[in-house]
Amino acid sequence: MGLRESTWMADDHCALADVLGARRTINAAAASELALMDDYVHGRTLCASPWDTGVTEKDLYSSAICELAAAMSSTFAAVHNKLQMWRQLRPLVRNSFIDGSLDMERVKTIHDHLLHARPETVVAIEAEVLKAAAEIAPGTLGREIDRLLTEADPDWDREVRKRAARTEKRIRVRRRARGLSSLTAVMTDGEADEQLSRIGAEVSRLHPEDPRSDDQRRGDAQTALMRGEALLCECSTCLTSRGDVADPEAPEHGEPVAVKPERTDANADATGETATEGTSSAPPGPERPTREQLDKSPTDPLPPDAPPPDAPPPDTTTRSRPGGGTLIERWRAIVENNPRAVHALHPDGHGGMTTPPPGALTYAPSRALAAQVRAEHPYCLHPGCNVPSERCDLDHIVEFDRQNPERGGWTIQTNIGPRCRLHHNLKTRKLWRTELLPEGVLHIVDPLGNHYFTAPTL
Ligand SMILES: [Zn+2]
Ligand SMILES: [Zn+2]
Repeated sequence: MGLRESTWMADDHCALADVLGARRTINAAAASELALMDDYVHGRTLCASPWDTGVTEKDLYSSAICELAAAMSSTFAAVHNKLQMWRQLRPLVRNSFIDGSLDMERVKTIHDHLLHARPETVVAIEAEVLKAAAEIAPGTLGREIDRLLTEADPDWDREVRKRAARTEKRIRVRRRARGLSSLTAVMTDGEADEQLSRIGAEVSRLHPEDPRSDDQRRGDAQTALMRGEALLCECSTCLTSRGDVADPEAPEHGEPVAVKPERTDANADATGETATEGTSSAPPGPERPTREQLDKSPTDPLPPDAPPPDAPPPDTTTRSRPGGGTLIERWRAIVENNPRAVHALHPDGHGGMTTPPPGALTYAPSRALAAQVRAEHPYCLHPGCNVPSERCDLDHIVEFDRQNPERGGWTIQTNIGPRCRLHHNLKTRKLWRTELLPEGVLHIVDPLGNHYFTAPTL
């Protein structure tokens, strides 16, 4: 018996060692990915630009980050944050990451929590931080690092907490499956506790017979608080006395809270966050302008996914969802077959017109045109960029010619698109090229000649 047990335990031990070995390999590979990204950006930033003497090292850095982001289908912010983290890692932490004993989550936790701490404090607590990292889970690790910092440098800690409460609060929306969204609010610990206790108080007033699970009760309490209402009990007695037995899913009153989302990037987590889930009235995916917004502007077309009841079914052979396969694959093949040909729908930027419509020869778009373009493109045109179009410049796809506006690209809907400052700059510096292909596909070429395509927003 004793022998069998110890044999079994030896096997078990081996299996566990295998898991840990695989984990070390993954950690080391993650470190190596960051090191290689660093090398790439370093190399790209060193090389002098063959295009334009006006290109600065900062432009080259931005472009290199965008090149990586496009190649990895990531965002500028995600790649930039990772690289900056890698560059700022303390040597001991970096070595533990490289040899696989620290995982990305812990490395990120250590980095985030030690960020802006005084260098001498970091040196003083570094060994203890690493010891803690080897023993505890990332969530607890963050709190432990905070505790060590408070102990080592109470004045700094007080200051930095005050500043964070002022500057680091934010709201993020993430679209989830089945019509749900996560709304993440970064707030102070105290505020999070306050909201949780309000939710607890609402839930505690329900009768035990209320059929909802704890999660459902708390979720509904959050919605009720958001609307300034009380959470209603749904036990049969209460339903009967309120007279709404028939339909517990009665039409929701009140408009959904309008929060313009930024698509969340990989770096959006931090301690002190609370996340709530709620039914979203919008379909999953990038948020579109609401119907009300569109109705206010009679010239705006209806969103194609909300056709009038008598409209023919959408022609699925020529249009495809953003990111969807066929349209992009087809255009990629066409461009790759003949990379030198002109594929643009309107290479002159005149939208197929022979006479410029009013406003087409003025550099700045009219307010109506600006609103139309922003409604059509909720985000920066650059592939994967998550800057909402309200915060973007409106950029001419075919360049406007100030000397001869009639010859250059016109200020018309098909030649104007939102581009955030960063991506606008890369195009202005002629590091990246853009053309609008037929069917609304945007074709973007990075400085190395890699081609990217984005489908039109439907
Ligand atoms: Zn009740
Ligand atoms: Zn952008």
